[in-house]
Amino acid sequence: MTRHVPSPALARVERGQLCTGCGLCAAIAPAAITMSMVDPGYLRPQQSAALTAAQDAEIAVACPGLVIDESDQPPAPFVDPLWGPVHYVGTGHANDAALRHQASSGGVISALLMHALSTGLVDYVVQTGADPDLPTGNQTRVSTSDGDILAAAGSRYTASAPLAGLEDWLARPGRFAFVGKPCDVSALRARARHDPRINARVPVVLAFFCAGIPSTAGTRRILDRLGVDPDDVTAFRYRGDGWPGFAKATLKDGSIRQMSYADSWGDILSKEVQFRCKICPDATGNVADVACADAWEGNERGYPSFEEQAGRSLVIARTTAGAALLATAEVAGRIFIQPLETAAIAAMQPAQARRKKQILSRLAALMVTGRPWPRYRGLRLWAAAARDNPVAQARSFAGLVRRLVQGRA
Ligand SMILES: Cc1cc2nc3c(=O)[nH]c(=O)nc-3n(C[C@H](O)[C@H](O)[C@H](O)COP(=O)(O)OP(=O)(O)OC[C@H]3O[C@@H](n4cnc5c(N)ncnc54)[C@H](O)[C@@H]3O)c2cc1C
Ligand code: SF4
Ligand code: SF4
Repeated sequence: MTRHVPSPALARVERGQLCTGCGLCAAIAPAAITMSMVDPGYLRPQQSAALTAAQDAEIAVACPGLVIDESDQPPAPFVDPLWGPVHYVGTGHANDAALRHQASSGGVISALLMHALSTGLVDYVVQTGADPDLPTGNQTRVSTSDGDILAAAGSRYTASAPLAGLEDWLARPGRFAFVGKPCDVSALRARARHDPRINARVPVVLAFFCAGIPSTAGTRRILDRLGVDPDDVTAFRYRGDGWPGFAKATLKDGSIRQMSYADSWGDILSKEVQFRCKICPDATGNVADVACADAWEGNERGYPSFEEQAGRSLVIARTTAGAALLATAEVAGRIFIQPLETAAIAAMQPAQARRKKQILSRLAALMVTGRPWPRYRGLRLWAAAARDNPVAQARSFAGLVRRLVQGRA
């Protein structure tokens, strides 16, 4: 077996279970790092050769398991401690009814991608869709047509490492739009500080609000509960095809087995989320040009209602480029949007509001138990914590300390 010196940056990430699975380290050191699936079903870097000191340093300043630094973001008219930089907030949907139905919420991400392609703002799109060889898995792919974008619409609640192929995407001629989880987008922006090709070649960066990446063990539990043999699955959707849509397995005989979003996400997948997501300080795509989410309507108890209905997106433009993209897409008839007060977001996204308020208490739990923690800058974590009540903060701290000490985190 070949021996090599483990990368200090990757070793710290591994010690703290801080990897998000974004794949950027594999793009920085392709001869030494590949992304592989590890138990219970997360994508993680595997190092097979020594890294140069320069590669290790490049990973250390851009890996979202080690650092999320939003302190150099361009100024925005309004910055909310919970919801980040805001040029525009609204709700809406794609005007194409088929796209709106197929997409995860209102289809705004896909409609913006189609608009960026058709106006020549970009030549292609780098996004995530179903893996043709493993219908429950993900594949990062290049889309060059509306049909490709429609085929990739819909959220896929399983691991994706869209930055692993960054050098391949940059090697293609032309400019591209990138869609990723907020941590992927943070990593891309951090890498852009040291690689000028990125800002020159990626004029559109889109993200969605993210509650975390569940393991593939979660997907297997869905199939088990549906009574489906994984080898029998020819296509698998996690949601979409309605709002929120169903987790839906198509079998070899053409039959379909499905489970509601409340059951698949609420009962199963949300309990399989990787550790790093529980201390995620930016799950709302603060450094994307546009971030989209579900514009859930709260029920009488303040919880989001998951009754099936026509899809509706929450849309936040975070940069001037993002605001321009939204405005031109609206004028072109691609999307319908109407403004929303920033203060109204919390009722649509109560879990994200709670999480942001509790990040400091969770970091404190890592510190007192001697775990490595990521360096967070420019995220307004103190201001977010100040919006929570001290009892909830204390519970969040004590709960994580207990789970860490018991090895249950
Ligand atoms: C893991 C995960 C967690 C999420 N958590 C939340 C949440 O807490 N709150 C919330 O409001 N919304 C969450 N969403 C996002 C939400 O489901 C919608 O994607 C979002 O509202 C945008 O909807 P849309 O109709 O505009 O997107 P669509 O037009 O359907 O486009 C979705 C885009 O997401 C990309 N994509 C899908 N899965 C992945 C993936 N695994 N990795 C990278 N890119 C992917 C697709 O390529 C496509 O471009 C989550 C999505 C995922 C994948
Ligand atoms: S978070 Fe991304 S860059 Fe960091 S170790 Fe994991 S895959 Fe690599
Ligand atoms: S919750 Fe945060 S760390 Fe986890 S996948 Fe989403 S953006 Fe990445």
